[in-house]
Amino acid sequence: MDCIFCKIINGDIPSYTIYENEYVKCFLDINPLSNGHTLIIPKKHFKDAFDIDEKYLFEIHKASKIILNMLNEKLKPNGFQLVQNNGIVQEVKHYHLHIIPKYNKSSKKDVKKIFEELQKNC
Ligand code: AMP
Repeated sequence: MDCIFCKIINGDIPSYTIYENEYVKCFLDINPLSNGHTLIIPKKHFKDAFDIDEKYLFEIHKASKIILNMLNEKLKPNGFQLVQNNGIVQEVKHYHLHIIPKYNKSSKKDVKKIFEELQKNC
């Protein structure tokens, strides 16, 4: 299947992966809206919120707590948005949950630099 996120799961395309387990992969968005913008995807292909099964939905939201805690501790944002797009607003047709840190004030850093900051002392 010609799905960019399936290619990331298979390792055919590199990603800045910050957490993964049997069900999910969590990696930094390549075109982030803020420092630490993360995508959580199921390791099985589901198109969208209509398609995904409940077990994977549960595992994605379980992983979101791990990611929220990690980003909160390391990057110290002032809030978070969780966004999940479907239909005409969904660019990549493999279910994904965006975790978007929000800051009172911050300068946008390179994704690689943020990845390195998240790798420190873990
Ligand atoms: P959406 O509009 O919800 O489908 O968002 C898709 C997101 O995937 C966008 O924020 C893109 O920047 C992100 N994205 C696309 N390709 C990659 C990639 N290879 N690695 C990381 N993020 C990606």
